[in-house]
Amino acid sequence: QPKLGVLALQGAFREHRQRLEALGVTVKEVRLPADLHGLSGLILPGGESTTMARLMTDYALWRPVRDFYSRGGAIWGTCAGAILLARDIQGAPPQFGVQDSLSLMDIRVRRNAFGRQVDSFTAPLTVTGLKNPFPAVFIRAPVIESVGEGVEPLAQHEGQVVLARQGRLMASSFHPELTPDPRLHELFLALVDQTVLTGV
Ligand code: GLN
Repeated sequence: QPKLGVLALQGAFREHRQRLEALGVTVKEVRLPADLHGLSGLILPGGESTTMARLMTDYALWRPVRDFYSRGGAIWGTCAGAILLARDIQGAPPQFGVQDSLSLMDIRVRRNAFGRQVDSFTAPLTVTGLKNPFPAVFIRAPVIESVGEGVEPLAQHEGQVVLARQGRLMASSFHPELTPDPRLHELFLALVDQTVLTGV
């Protein structure tokens, strides 16, 4: 039985937890480095990435989360969480300086890329491996502007990548925890099932 964690500093962590529990998975809310022990997968939820990054610093979580990945853990970042995973972040408000990131995933993201007028919207998304479109909720969403060689784009909206995978890392621009459709959480669980943890 895989043990999943949801980073619970800020944002939509409760909804992720509910989705996972509905699938029969044990979920731990992660706030401190010790909470990562024994987990095989971690979700970084949507919210506000600058705030979340600041809290990651306050709770000394950067290094432990990177170590969790090095030990073989799988990570899925949704929306602000995807921004935290990215190697390159564009479009951050300049007054905050360079935005901290886990820099684990070889993607370049642009924050708030769908513009102010369309702050949020829902779109049926064609996802590689899913039979029917996924109802994707976008809220001040980033796009994945470019992907490195080892990254597989899994869905696009208006020509922009909004879901991608790199080994045991997954990033989505949208919020799959805000719809009852469990298929993306199932996709992540399948990814977690394939991981082999070392030294946990
Ligand atoms: N706009 C937010 C950010 O850049 C992300 C929005 C979200 O997670 N729904 O951090």
